[in-house]
Amino acid sequence: MAEPEVTRFAPSPTGELHLGHAYAALIAHQAARSTGGRFLVRMENLDQSRCDTRFEAAILEELSWLGLAWNGPVRRQSDCMGAYRTALEALSARGVVYPCFCTRGDIAREIEGMAAAPQGPDGPLYPGTCRQLSPPERQVRLAGGMAHALRLDVGGAITQLGVPPMHFEETGRGPSGETGVVAVQPALLGDIVLGRKDTGVSYHLAVVVDDADQGVTLVTRGDDLFAATHVQRLLQALLGLPVPRYRHHALIRDPQGRRLAKRDRDQTLAALRASGMGPEDIRRTLGLG
Ligand code: GLU
Repeated sequence: MAEPEVTRFAPSPTGELHLGHAYAALIAHQAARSTGGRFLVRMENLDQSRCDTRFEAAILEELSWLGLAWNGPVRRQSDCMGAYRTALEALSARGVVYPCFCTRGDIAREIEGMAAAPQGPDGPLYPGTCRQLSPPERQVRLAGGMAHALRLDVGGAITQLGVPPMHFEETGRGPSGETGVVAVQPALLGDIVLGRKDTGVSYHLAVVVDDADQGVTLVTRGDDLFAATHVQRLLQALLGLPVPRYRHHALIRDPQGRRLAKRDRDQTLAALRASGMGPEDIRRTLGLG
């Protein structure tokens, strides 16, 4: 018998659930229930300008309609800011965080002017402009109250951690369900933002703190977050957090092969329900019947 898994469904309450979300929730729920484990729900509502409590209520109602009961109270990221700040302070104390004063425009111009800008899986990475500022220059800008984000000095972090190389366990990636031990490429996304200019906390930082605080043993999420796992694994190492296993499931796509998004109004659970579909029909449509 497999160990009881603790899994989570972590939507951002910025819109209605569509079939892709239902798939993610069903996968997480099934992984927990089939092992006698726990299925948790977390509202990733850091960006308060885009989130709405009405969407939170609708999401919970639709999970119940799907027949997915969750364990314990729903965690809301907006209630956990203190935990994220503590983690950020711990990383700062290790000397692997620096203030970044660049605007999006500054970054675009800098990249344009470079002969060979560093590349990530989704395009150019932050070129490290503010990592190179002298300490006095940094001080002047901070003292002047200049708006800034906080970034991870990924090169410094890798040097600090040294060998041995890091790994994570993949339990079923993408449509083929590939499994195995994945060697981490900690610099895959470059000097990521840890503290956003507007909210003070970034997705990557919050997620590793949440998964550890909630005791998540198996992170199930879309394959679009595979690259994110590499850098989140690095943050776990820096913060001394436990490392869950991962399952990066296939993404649900529309007939044109594009991943579902807010524009696909006819694929929301609300629209499908209104058309007369029941929870069993949704499962069958998703190949989980
Ligand atoms: N909030 C993210 C989303 O809705 C999920 C993040 C995660 O599972 O780590 O895509």
